[in-house]
Amino acid sequence: MFIGHYGPAAAITGGKVKLWHGFIAVQFLDILWAPFVLLGIEHVRIVENFTASNHFDLYDMPYTHSLVMAIFWSVVAGVAYKMIRKSAGVTGGIIIGVLVFSHWLFDLAMHKPDLALWFGGPKVGFALWENRPLSVGLEFGLLILGLALYLSRTRARGVMGKIAPVSLFALLAAAQIFGNFGPPPESADMAAQSAIIAYFIFAVLAAWVDATRQSKS
Ligand SMILES: [Zn+2]
Repeated sequence: MFIGHYGPAAAITGGKVKLWHGFIAVQFLDILWAPFVLLGIEHVRIVENFTASNHFDLYDMPYTHSLVMAIFWSVVAGVAYKMIRKSAGVTGGIIIGVLVFSHWLFDLAMHKPDLALWFGGPKVGFALWENRPLSVGLEFGLLILGLALYLSRTRARGVMGKIAPVSLFALLAAAQIFGNFGPPPESADMAAQSAIIAYFIFAVLAAWVDATRQSKS
């Protein structure tokens, strides 16, 4: 999954847990995956039309996308967040932990069986990527639902508070369409580098959205 991951983040952040913190959390496993690929710790092959939705053969990613490690990273992120951001408290830590783990659950729905349960264990994945209309619909549906919830709980501070969420949505939508309908990346390293850059830009835009809106409560 790609932009759909941001749906759960937008749905439950915007208070003590900032929207952009949620944006980092839901992609945390992929944010680790990219340098792991660049360092040769995990592996991906670019195979044109490997699934109906994209070109990734994600055959080796036990450190970031196995179930046991997804749980591990979720706990680490949640505990670290609670320690770093004291004002968010235990609830903030739990929200971050749950968001990190949500990445694995939504990947489970989309991926071919490439998510190991543990190191060397059986691999799972319900392969919704094989149905492009359904997978694209799900990505957009989740994102739109989450953003709608976020917008309903917050109000714009001036005109920028309206422009920022529209810009964020437009960029996410463009990235998703490019991912689904664009050419395959030139290499695994290129794919990892673009992922890091994209996640960074999306988080910056989310910070802009949060800075220009305020909670209604
Ligand atoms: Zn992932």
